[in-house]
Amino acid sequence: MSRRRPIAVDRVLITRLVEELVRIPSVNPSLIPGAPGEGEVARCLATACERLGMVVTLEEVAPGRPNVVALIPGTEPARGRSLLLNGHTDTVGTAGMDAPFTPVLRDGRLFGRGSVDMKASLAAMVGAAAALRDAGVAPLGDVLLTFVADEEHLSLGTAAIAATRRADAAIVTEATGLRICVAHKGFVWATIRTDGRAAHGSDYETGVDAIVRMGRVLAALERFDRETLSRRGHPLLGRPSVHASLIQGGEGPSTYPPSCSLVLERRTLPAETEGEVRAELREILASLGRDDPHFQATLEVTCVRPGLEVDRGAAILGALDHAFVDVCGHAPAYVGQGAWFDAALLARQGIPTVIFGPSGAGAHAAVEYVDLLSVVTCAEVLAQVIVGFCGVAPRVRRPPCAS
Ligand SMILES: [Zn+2]
Repeated sequence: MSRRRPIAVDRVLITRLVEELVRIPSVNPSLIPGAPGEGEVARCLATACERLGMVVTLEEVAPGRPNVVALIPGTEPARGRSLLLNGHTDTVGTAGMDAPFTPVLRDGRLFGRGSVDMKASLAAMVGAAAALRDAGVAPLGDVLLTFVADEEHLSLGTAAIAATRRADAAIVTEATGLRICVAHKGFVWATIRTDGRAAHGSDYETGVDAIVRMGRVLAALERFDRETLSRRGHPLLGRPSVHASLIQGGEGPSTYPPSCSLVLERRTLPAETEGEVRAELREILASLGRDDPHFQATLEVTCVRPGLEVDRGAAILGALDHAFVDVCGHAPAYVGQGAWFDAALLARQGIPTVIFGPSGAGAHAAVEYVDLLSVVTCAEVLAQVIVGFCGVAPRVRRPPCAS
């Protein structure tokens, strides 16, 4: 494929916007009670998009916690494809940070809470829209920028977008180090409870020890992880896994524990379904019951998040690959990520969704930064992928002046 000349982006605008966004605290109040939430950062982004002539709405997903939806209406939606760009506005807390909301620029990096996760990505989205406007490029299909709340907790923001918006494809702009992420794992949270029978500590004939029975569950889970899950694999994601997260049980030293509960997390490959995960856990419990008439256990699945596997033939992948080559002059790298992303919620609604964003480090950590040059490159690629995917009308040549 030939290389097209990329659309120029405004580095100063992008850098200033990253700084401005980092300066506005938007810690998720569901994680840190009393934290300010996404309201102010949403208004800042809404203003920036309005200035670019976009059609902007604020849509609350919880009191005082809006999504921002900014639309560049397509000039000929029937001829062009629509594209949704998505990034979250909330951040995690600031434990261990000296000045989390004072952006510091050093050696091409911008430090601060939310810099790489993911306010720089939001600035890149706005920067791409600004570049199109400055170049006089009007996409044929709709371009929807969605700046969403609550990704760091329950993903209320993207869940609302997935329920109400449609597009021919989506890009979640989480930091990927400018690599194209085409797969991520899912997860299932489950609670197992073993039931015993309370009795005085001396009364071994009556007492049934629920904690000892949970011990067998733990040993069986370890074996399942080591012997079964270790044999499964994905070229980009490695193997699935299961681990114990929380455990509780017992009433005192001289009482047989009547119950014990265990919270576990099963990290899944994209092809593993909730039903399969449930059935495997049930089978583990059933096999323990076959050896012990006193063994009683229940299983409750409390949260399910699907994994992501992008169809390698998806048009958005081709467009993103081509845009990357236009901007960077070489082929992009393709990766998978172990962690879960909002992308899966959009993909579940039938919207082909990939993840692509800038470079940096320290998400959720005490030292967080983004590489500013990568943010500029990200914006260039986003502008270019909009052109390639949504289409643009050929420029009208002005007729030569009559003389
Ligand atoms: Zn994030």
